[in-house]
Amino acid sequence: MIGRTTAVVLAGLSGHLVDVEAHIGSSLPAFTLVGLPDASLSEARDRVRAAIASSALDWPQRRVTVNLSPASLPKSGTGTDLAIAIAILAAADQVDPALAGAAAHLGELGLDGRVRPVAGALPAVAAAAARGVDRVVVAAANAEEANLVPGIEVVAVTTLAELARSYGAPDAIASATAPVPLPARPLALVEDVDLSEVQGQEEARWALEVAAAGGHHLLMSGPPGAGKTMLARRLPTILPPLTDEDAVTATGIHSLAGTLDPSEGLLRTPPFEAPHHSASAAAIVGGGSGLARPGAISRAHAGVLFLDEAPEFPARVLQTLRQPLEHGEVVLHRAHGATRYPARFQLVLAANPCPCGQYYGTGDRCGCNAVQRRRYFGRLSGPLLDRVDLQVTVMPLRVGSAEPAEASAVVAARVARARASAARRLECTPWRLNAQVSGSWLRSHTDGEAARLVWQAIERGVLTARGADRTLRVAWTLADLDDRPEPTADDVAQALTLRSRGASA
Ligand SMILES: [Zn+2]
Repeated sequence: MIGRTTAVVLAGLSGHLVDVEAHIGSSLPAFTLVGLPDASLSEARDRVRAAIASSALDWPQRRVTVNLSPASLPKSGTGTDLAIAIAILAAADQVDPALAGAAAHLGELGLDGRVRPVAGALPAVAAAAARGVDRVVVAAANAEEANLVPGIEVVAVTTLAELARSYGAPDAIASATAPVPLPARPLALVEDVDLSEVQGQEEARWALEVAAAGGHHLLMSGPPGAGKTMLARRLPTILPPLTDEDAVTATGIHSLAGTLDPSEGLLRTPPFEAPHHSASAAAIVGGGSGLARPGAISRAHAGVLFLDEAPEFPARVLQTLRQPLEHGEVVLHRAHGATRYPARFQLVLAANPCPCGQYYGTGDRCGCNAVQRRRYFGRLSGPLLDRVDLQVTVMPLRVGSAEPAEASAVVAARVARARASAARRLECTPWRLNAQVSGSWLRSHTDGEAARLVWQAIERGVLTARGADRTLRVAWTLADLDDRPEPTADDVAQALTLRSRGASA
C-alpha cells in the first residue's frame, strides 16, 4: 500500500519539488521518515501523527515509512507536514490516492489538525507552477500570496480534516476550526512620501536625483536634523518601478522574510530598508538558526538600503556589504551548505560629520578633536567608500527658504529619461547604469576637455585613480540628465563637487 503526493521545499529563493511517498507495511507499528530530514523535519512526525488523530482519522496501526526524494536535497522547515499527512492517508486508503497525487501540498500542521501558513509561500508556489504543477493546496493564510502566482490553481484549506473530506474521507472532523492567521508583519514596506515635502535643500535634492539617474551609491554627511533620513526615504519615489523580473524576485524575498503584504500584489515600488546599527548581523545580512532567512540587505534587493549613522555599524557588518555590492547577492554559510539570496541594492549612507555631530560651518560648536573626527569617519573603510560615487554634505535647512518644492513624479520623469539615454549608450556592454561601468570603459570613452580636467586633477594629487573613475561615472550621469551625448568640462567640475564631503573628504 503506497500513497504519493508532492511537496515544495525552498533552498534560498529557489523552490524544488519533493516526491513524498508513504508505504504501509505489515510489521509492528512504527513511523520512519527518510530522505535527509533535519531536526525540524523529524518533529514533523509528531505533528503529522497528532494532526491525523485530531481530525478523527485513523493512524495506521502498522509500520509507516515516508520517503522524501530526492534525498540529496536538504529539506528544512515545516512546509512538508501537509504532504506527508496526505501521502499517509492515501496509502491507508482513507483518502482518494488519485486526488492526493494530483496536487502539490504546502503547509505546516498544528497538533490540533489546523493547517498553518509557511514563510516563502510565493516563491514555493511559483516554483511548483514553473515545474508544471496544476494545483497547489496551501493554508488559508497563504492563499492571497499564492494567488499572486499566475498559471496554477490555488486551493486554500483551514484544517487537515477539511482537505481530507474533499479527498473522499467524509468522516473527518476538525477538532479546531479557526484559521491560523499570518503573524503580524514587522514593518510597512510602502510609505506614502514625496519629494515635495523636502523644502529647500537644493544641493542634496540634486545629489539624490543624480544618484537615482546613474544608480550611484550615495553618502550624505551632515549634522543631525539636516534631513538626511527624510531625503533617503524619498529615493524610491524617484526610481523607476521594478521590472517584472525584479518584482517577482523582490516579492519572493519578502514572502520568505515575512514582510510581504499580499493585498498589495507584487512589489512594484523599489523597497526601502533602513536597519538600525544596533540590529544583529543576522537581521542585517541574513541568517538565523535553522533555515537561513534573508536579512535587510536582501529585503532591499532592487531597492534602497539606507544605513543611518553608518560609522556606528559594526565593522564586521560593513565589511560584509562588499560581497553584495560586488556580486549582487549574499552567500550565507550554514552547516548543511550555503544559501544564496539576491542582494542588489542602491546603498545610501548617512553620517554625522563627527562624533558630536556639530563639525560643520565654522566648526566652532564641535567639541571633538581632529583625531576623534578622523577616527569616526575612518570606520567607513576605504574599500566600501570606493564604491560610493556620490559623497555630499547636507547642511541644516536655513529658515525661510520655503519655495514650493518639485514633486517626486517630476523628478522621476527626468531620472527615467537619463536612465534610458545611458541604457542606449551601454547597449553593447554588460551594464545599464553609469554606476556599473568599469574604469577602463570610462577612460577610453571620455575625451576632450572633460578628460583633460580629470587628468589634471590626478596630476595635482586632487584625485586618485579610483576617485577619477567615480568622478567620470557621475559626469556621464550629469550629461545624461542634461541630454548631452558626452560629459563636458562643466560636468566634470560639478561631479567633483558631488564627491567631496566638504572639509572631511
Ligand atoms: Zn564634533
